[in-house]
Amino acid sequence: MPPTPPEPAAVLARPHTAELTGWGRTAPTASDVRRPTSATELQRALPNGSPRGLLARGLGRGYGDCAQNSGGTVVETTDVDAFTIHDADPASDTVLVTAEAGASIDRLLHALVPQGLFVPVTPGTRYVTVGGAIAADIHGKNHHRKGSWCQHVTSLHLQLADGEVVEIGPDRDPELFWATAGGMGLTGVVLDATFACPRIGSSRLLVDTDRAADLDEVLELMASGDHAYDYSVAWIDLMAGGRATGRSVLTRGRFATAEEAAPAAGPDPYAYSAGVLASAPPFVPDGLLNKLTVRAFNELWFRKAPVRRRDELQTIPTFFHPLDMVGGWNRIYGPQGFLQWQFVIPFGAEATLRRIIEELSASGCTSFLAVLKAFGEADPAPLSFPAPGWTLALDIPAGVRGLGPLLDRLDELVVAEGGRVYLAKDSRVRPELVPQMYPRLDEWRAVRNRVDPQRRIRSDLSRRLGL
Ligand SMILES: Cc1cc2nc3c(=O)[nH]c(=O)nc-3n(C[C@H](O)[C@H](O)[C@H](O)COP(=O)(O)OP(=O)(O)OC[C@H]3O[C@@H](n4cnc5c(N)ncnc54)[C@H](O)[C@@H]3O)c2cc1C
Repeated sequence: MPPTPPEPAAVLARPHTAELTGWGRTAPTASDVRRPTSATELQRALPNGSPRGLLARGLGRGYGDCAQNSGGTVVETTDVDAFTIHDADPASDTVLVTAEAGASIDRLLHALVPQGLFVPVTPGTRYVTVGGAIAADIHGKNHHRKGSWCQHVTSLHLQLADGEVVEIGPDRDPELFWATAGGMGLTGVVLDATFACPRIGSSRLLVDTDRAADLDEVLELMASGDHAYDYSVAWIDLMAGGRATGRSVLTRGRFATAEEAAPAAGPDPYAYSAGVLASAPPFVPDGLLNKLTVRAFNELWFRKAPVRRRDELQTIPTFFHPLDMVGGWNRIYGPQGFLQWQFVIPFGAEATLRRIIEELSASGCTSFLAVLKAFGEADPAPLSFPAPGWTLALDIPAGVRGLGPLLDRLDELVVAEGGRVYLAKDSRVRPELVPQMYPRLDEWRAVRNRVDPQRRIRSDLSRRLGL
């Protein structure tokens, strides 16, 4: 999709002021929001004269303030979402897809799956855009096998702060390409990208489930067995203490062949439907998620999981995107919102992982959504989050007493092990820890200085962390 030259401003000249938050619904800030409806309009966004700069935004699934730009301009890309599935040799394992920045994984899957294709990486929600996937260099349950999103991107068009459009990729200005991968939108506006999508044998997965009685057991299961699965993730009961600390439900799987899927899928092995089954009410009072309700939920969730089950056929939404079945589920945390804390620490730091889980569990910080994964190799991107090791992600209501000091203390443990937190989820890390967490930050800054010396592209996250 070659970039088209800018035309005189129309829609972009009619911004409206709106309050934006991330998915956690904390720290709202107001911006001039523009929503271009074509690639041409998207390109008119830059250069931008606002003294508070400009930022691209996708579907707002970053948890914290990464897609906000207080007092400046925010360009929502979601109406710029065309894509093309390229012809490919039927013998090749992958097919190239070129998608505009605002195309969501949701939209892509509705077109790809019936053609026997999948996205290379999917996060825990399908409501993320291609631009957001690149800016956060997202990872999925297959990181140990396939790495993160940008490892599958062959090229992309990036509009720089001065308005110039460049085509970059792993072989074409790799410095700028890898600074854009995980660069949280700060190197330019991604206009479109081409990436390789794998073929699948059906729209069903063959899933194995194991219930682990404690942390040691789940770590052992993952360390000894993840290599045999394409996808792996463990749900952890962070409310359980004592001997049950770290008890988990581990689910791992791979796409089924058409023959394997037949009993569940029927005549069309690629049939795909993904919908919203229910919606959270528009207003939920604070305190619905308290220690008692969350403990009861976790107990039920753990007990209902089979101790050991093999070869269960599951659909794509059930296996990859169960939360998407409830529309607006982020509202259940009430008006104060919630945050997600996700860190990675290297393999070998299991004692620290245990200590962090013990501290979280002792603090009673009411998390019913906590997942553990083992990451594989990192890509060359200086600000990309994944690195070989254990990653734990947990949602916590923002109003929990003592949460700030607790997470500050746990951040120190993570840093001491050479680990880091995920910027796409962050809303609170202390800025002075960021250079320790991301030791190649200066390398990234040098590239950013090259393409945006005047800092025309900015976000609340970039200001808060002094990026
Ligand atoms: C329920 C849930 C589960 C999740 N699970 C995972 C997971 O398993 N793995 C994972 O890695 N992440 C996960 N995430 C986080 C999510 O994948 C990332 O935050 C992703 O970046 C969100 O994409 P978005 O389109 O909503 O972007 P936004 O949230 O709108 O923006 C995110 C960042 O991308 C930048 N950006 C957006 N579009 C462009 C563009 N066109 N050009 C340049 N920059 C752009 C923004 O400036 C911002 O910095 C999850 C989020 C939720 C809510």
